[in-house]
Amino acid sequence: MTENGDATPLVRLENVNKHFGTLHVLKNINLTVSRGEVLVVIGPSGGGKSTLCRTINRLETINDGQIVFDGKVLPAEGKALAKLRSEVGMVFQSFNLFAHKTIRENVTLGPTKVRGLAKDAADKRAMELLDRVGIAAQADKYPAQLSGGQQQRVAIARALAMDPKMILFDEPTSALDPEMVQEVLDVMVGLARDGMTMMVVTHEMGFARRAANRVVFMADGQIVEENTPDEFFTNAQTDRARDFLSKIL
Ligand code: ADP
Ligand code: MG
Repeated sequence: MTENGDATPLVRLENVNKHFGTLHVLKNINLTVSRGEVLVVIGPSGGGKSTLCRTINRLETINDGQIVFDGKVLPAEGKALAKLRSEVGMVFQSFNLFAHKTIRENVTLGPTKVRGLAKDAADKRAMELLDRVGIAAQADKYPAQLSGGQQQRVAIARALAMDPKMILFDEPTSALDPEMVQEVLDVMVGLARDGMTMMVVTHEMGFARRAANRVVFMADGQIVEENTPDEFFTNAQTDRARDFLSKIL
């Protein structure tokens, strides 16, 4: 819940099903994310974690059930869809920065093009955000001149520049060299502490313990288990989760 006391969940998935052809990828998913909550989603590859993220910002449609975002039922179309997309930030494993634009331009592009923000204002805000993620000194470089960890921090600044109501992170540190994982997780912990609503697909238990309110264990398209991080990591309830944890710990 946020300071303004809005107790309605920011996101509510009700009996959500998603098929890719004959493959049933999301099986009757029921899940809510509260405002200001940090939800970690964990589970074996192919279990539907990325698809779950993608249905929330409508990169994927669903076959049945419904998703309510900030009180509005999806599917949103046209203008409503564009608005929704700008309200849900997404950070991917592969950074996805524009290679031919500078770091600063990567961060100002959305606000100027989608939001119609004036260039000066967008620039000022971009520099604040780049400072917040510790990259201000690199603002006029190109993505390829930065390390993976720096690029992922830019991707986070870019998501923040749209003033999203929520940020989805899909394995944000999986493509990074080990020594760069922590700098990205530190930024994410900072966001969590500042009250950002976050859904984070990650196997980084340190992050889950430091920042998550709840862990959801997903396998074979289903939510198998849902618990606090401490309970989940020390006292998983299902064989499926215990088996998975024994492989990653
Ligand atoms: P996870 O992120 O947990 O690894 P995904 O959501 O990526 O799982 O994938 C769940 C299942 O859906 C997998 O079997 C995957 O191969 C399949 N899948 C994902 N995207 C598509 C797609 N666009 N078309 C067909 N099958 C897909
Ligand atoms: Mg995935």
